[in-house]
Amino acid sequence: MSQFWSPAVRALTPYVPGEQPRERLIKLNTNENPYPPSPAIEQVLQAFAVGHLRRYPDPESLALREALAKTHGVEPEQVFVGNGSDEVLALAFQAFFCQPKPLLMPAISYSFYPVYCKLYDIHYRTVALDDRWQIALKAFDADNGGVVFANPNAPTGHGHPRQAVAQLLERIIESVVLVDEAYVDFGGESVVPLIADYPNLLVAGTLSKGRSLAGLRVGYAIGSRELIEGLERVKNSFNSYPIDMLASEVAIASLEDESHFKACCEQVIATRERTRQQLEAMAFEVLPSQTNFLFVRHPRHSGASLFSGLRERGILVRHFNKDGLSDFLRISIGTDDEMGSLVEALQAIL
Ligand SMILES: *Cc1c(COP(=O)(O)O)cnc(C)c1O
Repeated sequence: MSQFWSPAVRALTPYVPGEQPRERLIKLNTNENPYPPSPAIEQVLQAFAVGHLRRYPDPESLALREALAKTHGVEPEQVFVGNGSDEVLALAFQAFFCQPKPLLMPAISYSFYPVYCKLYDIHYRTVALDDRWQIALKAFDADNGGVVFANPNAPTGHGHPRQAVAQLLERIIESVVLVDEAYVDFGGESVVPLIADYPNLLVAGTLSKGRSLAGLRVGYAIGSRELIEGLERVKNSFNSYPIDMLASEVAIASLEDESHFKACCEQVIATRERTRQQLEAMAFEVLPSQTNFLFVRHPRHSGASLFSGLRERGILVRHFNKDGLSDFLRISIGTDDEMGSLVEALQAIL
């Protein structure tokens, strides 16, 4: 605490990201992709004319928005880009959710959402998951100033099919529904095709997970022109240039290499399912996952003891010390070798 901080800053509870350790650990705690991004990026970086950096980048990021529009079958005017989807989400909260009625979100979801609410003084209400740890979409029917959820959800891994979200959108027409698709590349069903029918649907996405570019910081949102215009109003009141020239070129090269992206995601999915079988054979309960992580618990070992046992063996996973979740571990899917080491370490601990 400092006397120099604004009162509102003193009251904040910032998000704490998973640890980025200095030691050489097997890192399965922040859902990074274990495979490198498209090899085409090397050439783009080598060919980059460094002299261009004396100029500001395009404030509209048109080339990147065109590439994303092509990838997702929409118009560039329906695409917004930002410095990671975390930034895009923050701008969306400010653009759409500062409302008299409460924002609705799942009680268990991305823990950044309540942090943005505190930052922007947004009144919110959480909705319990059902008894299978799935988001109960029906519970969002209450009067609201907006709805936000991750689909597939984190850290639970379950995703709803497009049709279920369409049914929700039939009922919620007066507020914005923000669907965070950070993990959709690992077996989820994107709701982007629904934006043609629902002007209040905003879909957030990222190149961090499926496209192995967490270090680049490129995220986006897709929605109706009026929603994108709302986001641009906030962005242009905050930072005109969230996407730098290098990030734009690297992101475009990644979007143009569909086959590398697909192959990496398929490999992650195959490794996930093999790991699931191995963990289930060791009596773990493993929630169904359409993501690049598994959410697991063991009937005879606490989450905290498994976490520290793995840590002692050089493996870092994520443990949430929150009500209802403390029995679980969230384990990101690494390479086959890394997951082999994880399974061996767990066998030793059990
Ligand atoms: C990782 C993650 C993000 C943030 O992605 P960035 O684009 O790297 O900022 C957003 N939402 C969820 C649910 C995530 O897990």
